[in-house]
Amino acid sequence: MASYFEEHDCEPGVPEEQYRQNALLELARTLFNGMDIELASADFTDWDHRLPPPAAKRAVQSLPKAIITGAQADKGLKCPVCLLEFEEEQTALEMPCQHLFHSDCILPWLGKTNSCPLCRCELPTDNEEYEEYKKDKARRQQQQHRLEYLHGAMYT
Ligand SMILES: [Zn+2]
Ligand SMILES: [Zn+2]
Repeated sequence: MASYFEEHDCEPGVPEEQYRQNALLELARTLFNGMDIELASADFTDWDHRLPPPAAKRAVQSLPKAIITGAQADKGLKCPVCLLEFEEEQTALEMPCQHLFHSDCILPWLGKTNSCPLCRCELPTDNEEYEEYKKDKARRQQQQHRLEYLHGAMYT
């Protein structure tokens, strides 16, 4: 069952979100090209500024496989990581956001972090600390929305 906030995360974001998404894709491609990068380096101090931990193995293993249809191939549907067009009847892995990737492209990525490099839609992780943080963040957002709603109700 997807919560409001998970769905919200999958929506196309505002420009700064867009920037972060592009940065993620950039990282995913770097990984695909075999260049090793230290994702958790730099001065990231909390989960707000760190890439989430790897996706839980169980979640990755249960990602559905999708067979590329003729129509998708005709449209020139590409794997967002390697930018190669899919061929008809090729097998791709489908993320919960319905974005499709070559398994060779997305699996190394999910071994580093849990979110879709295209839209940051998240898979569950095995990291308790992070899962706690996620719940906490959802609660804080909920409070924030509530406050904005009250504010709107009072001043309009
Ligand atoms: Zn690919
Ligand atoms: Zn996605």
